[in-house]
Amino acid sequence: MNIENQTKSILIDGVWRDIEERTETIYNPATLEPITKVAYGGRQEADEAIQAAAKAIPSWSEMTGRERSGILYKASELMNEDAERLGEILTLEQGKPLSEAIGEVKGAAAFLLWYAEEASRGYGEWIPPSNKSKRLLVIPKPIGVVGAITPWNFPSSMITRKIAPALAAGCTVVLKPAPETPLSAIEIMKILQRAGLPDGVVNLVTGDAEEIGKAMLENKDVRLITFTGSTAVGKYLMQESAKHVKKLSLELGGHAPSIVFEDADIEKAATLVLGSKFRNNGQTCICTNRLYVHESIAEAFTTKLTEKVNELKIGSGLEEDTQLGPLINKKAAEKVHAHLEDAVNKGAEVVCGGAPWDGDLKGYFYEPTILSNVTNDMMIMSEETFGPIIPIQTFNDEDDVIRAANDSDYGLAAYIFTENTNRAIRTSEKLDYGIVGVNDVFPATPEAPFGGIKQSGIGKEGGHHGMSEFLEEKFVSIGID
Ligand code: NAP
Repeated sequence: MNIENQTKSILIDGVWRDIEERTETIYNPATLEPITKVAYGGRQEADEAIQAAAKAIPSWSEMTGRERSGILYKASELMNEDAERLGEILTLEQGKPLSEAIGEVKGAAAFLLWYAEEASRGYGEWIPPSNKSKRLLVIPKPIGVVGAITPWNFPSSMITRKIAPALAAGCTVVLKPAPETPLSAIEIMKILQRAGLPDGVVNLVTGDAEEIGKAMLENKDVRLITFTGSTAVGKYLMQESAKHVKKLSLELGGHAPSIVFEDADIEKAATLVLGSKFRNNGQTCICTNRLYVHESIAEAFTTKLTEKVNELKIGSGLEEDTQLGPLINKKAAEKVHAHLEDAVNKGAEVVCGGAPWDGDLKGYFYEPTILSNVTNDMMIMSEETFGPIIPIQTFNDEDDVIRAANDSDYGLAAYIFTENTNRAIRTSEKLDYGIVGVNDVFPATPEAPFGGIKQSGIGKEGGHHGMSEFLEEKFVSIGID
């Protein structure tokens, strides 16, 4: 696929800009070949983008929800119509299999659609007063300019999951996408423009994360920062936001436990665990990072899962039958291998995989790997791996395994596999996680609240909850005769 020159990758007040001599090369992670170049913006561009977003606030926020809705509907339609091409671009810059990429684009369009529907539902409240000569109103107001920072693992859906509710609420946005995957962001901006979004309502700045982040943190016009990424950067943003008491919405890292109980359907559970761990090559914040299997079915389950893992086809995401693409970069591959080596040095057994893939592509591929004999002192049991390794531990008591599952600083997603409804309800209530999947490993959907607790974040994306992040409540007290 031929991607035209993308150096005009900065969008400010409706105008696409480049920066002479400040560009960044974007690489295909499967081949390590350059795809194109984008502009490398910094503080100045970020400040100008914030200014444009602030200027656009009055007219955009005063439009009716129905008017804003029309633009989001149109954008959703345009995105769906173009899903194949957009999927190909996403695979080129991110590496995931094309079917997953097209699925992500359609999922991203679904966020635009859902918030097109929500745009006209920013309800307030009429509170019955205790004093007869008063009337008490609560009016939802858009919070103002939003700074949005997104990661590379879902280059399309992480953007619309933030932008769609912000726009529906009447906010304007400055977006900084991940440096590895700016092309999907550029395409989304172009779609919004074609859908009729007024100039300045959404602005895009590719480039220096620290400088763009500082502009968002230091400029008082930015009232909310919505961030998806690592817990370390989330903590930094939280600390710096205190200076201007900015609101934050943080979708951070995870370390999802999956628990396979003795009453699970083994075939079904193995298929679901496979999907949870190896979708996007394990580079998913909610993917299984540790697997607990009841000792009575451990052998049968491990055999079944190993059969399935051995059938996974590694390769370029653009090849039709590929199921595992490359890791995003060298650093990611080194982390995955460090987790493997640490586990093996501490006594883990490699059931399958266990090494970088020895294929004919230059990218950072890794064999899908299962580890057994895993102990809690291994890095993989507490740190996010973000790659295709699954460590298995056995258990024999429900309370013990829930305690082990909850023993984490993270609290994003957890999964249980059981055919017993009582157990499903009982254990899902006890798990300290923002999301629990019961015989379901793909819980993210536009109509439901997605987000973590503990060090996995603050706030929700999706559902009506996602839009309320971008609204603040104004209380109006009216005295009457
Ligand atoms: P990351 O290193 O934290 O980067 C995320 C974004 O933040 C990138 O655009 C990055 O740009 C930017 N950034 C880094 N330092 C910054 C700074 N000082 N100021 C402003 N922006 C800054 O995370 P990642 O490795 O790209 O993404 C993977 C992480 O995201 C994992 O931990 C994963 O669990 C998490 N995640 C969470 C969710 C969720 O919904 N909870 C969803 C997806 C991913 P640069 O790369 O240019 O520094």
